[in-house]
Amino acid sequence: MRIGIVKERREHERRVAATPETVKRYKAMGLEPVVERGAGLGAAIPDELYEQAGARLVDGPGEALAAEILLKVQRPLDEELAALGPERVLIGMLDPYMNGDQVRAYAERRITAFALELLPRTTRAQAMDVLSSQANLAGYRAMVEAMAAYSRVLPMMMTAAGTVTPAKVFVIGAGVAGLQAIATAKRMGAVVTATDVRPAAKEEIESLGAKFVGFIPKDAATAGGYARPLTPEEQAEQARIVAEHLKSQDIVVTTAQVPGRKAPRIVTAAMVAAMKPGSVILDMAAETGGNVEGSRPGEVVEIGGVQVIGARNLPAKLAPAASLLYAKNLMNFVQLIVGKKGELAINLEDDLVKGTLLTRAGEIVHPNFVGQS
Ligand code: NAD
Repeated sequence: MRIGIVKERREHERRVAATPETVKRYKAMGLEPVVERGAGLGAAIPDELYEQAGARLVDGPGEALAAEILLKVQRPLDEELAALGPERVLIGMLDPYMNGDQVRAYAERRITAFALELLPRTTRAQAMDVLSSQANLAGYRAMVEAMAAYSRVLPMMMTAAGTVTPAKVFVIGAGVAGLQAIATAKRMGAVVTATDVRPAAKEEIESLGAKFVGFIPKDAATAGGYARPLTPEEQAEQARIVAEHLKSQDIVVTTAQVPGRKAPRIVTAAMVAAMKPGSVILDMAAETGGNVEGSRPGEVVEIGGVQVIGARNLPAKLAPAASLLYAKNLMNFVQLIVGKKGELAINLEDDLVKGTLLTRAGEIVHPNFVGQS
């Protein structure tokens, strides 16, 4: 059975779905890796390394797209989808909530599609958890970019010419990305505060040595460990606390998300305008609707002397590291659905299979999407 890796062709994408290390593992599993020439260049992986690892290199995407299993970073382009034959297995970050039409197209084309961002966040799934591996790097990169845009300094500096006070950093949303952003700011010597709505996040913020600011609404965490949307009253309470706190902050990184929905709007333009000139806000949720009013993905907007940076595909800016982790996540998942002789062995009773399988044999099978056909 062939396993195909193509060059990612979506704008601003530089990651790749397999590395020489995972190619070697696929060979050992009895699979035949087929890699499009140039697929790894965005992640600084030359073709020769794939070849040395045992991949068959092919010109253009055609042969890799024809493989029985296709590994992707982002969901396929329409022309890639059109090249996928029936009963093919597609694995990647397929972003199904935002792309219902494509989920229907997978079913129509009889593709077995797995959306890895739907993995349950259980201990067994950790090694395949693409959201965590990519969000961790994204949180780090977000803080690095915000710090680079800030024209004062992060740590306290005591010099003969005088003392520079440390920057005040506020992180909104302390999931995987937010916690890494907090840790990165702490390493640089900033004074860090953070907020979230889940009780577990409050403890994690404090365990990193940052101060929790805000309030924890009742039952704000769902059974899956995610946040629920806040009620209008809770939003108003949060807005009051955040607006007051922002006035004293220098760098703000926002990461709040509610799965399957538009990102919650937490920082209004009025709150931004009330901040000190020279402050920097980086909105990590800019691509999913924005935590900050007025932020635009890939752009820097200035509001009253405050720079508002809209993040756009941050993991792709760390493509070598992000690909290394992502490719391993995929490999661990592939191990779950391939048998000892390199054959497909999809166990529909497995909760990780059930949790990620979108379509199979012409049907939409994932409970969150059934009824869309
Ligand atoms: P996410 O990307 O869905 O959201 C980011 C953060 O935003 C979350 O902490 C969320 O609580 C917060 N948030 C949402 N609405 C908010 C609001 N209105 N105001 C402030 N904050 C808000 O989250 P994630 O990083 O994917 O993490 C989700 C959960 O999964 C967490 O509980 C995390 O600990 C858990 N997790 C578990 C494992 C595991 O293996 N067990 C692995 C990774 C993550």
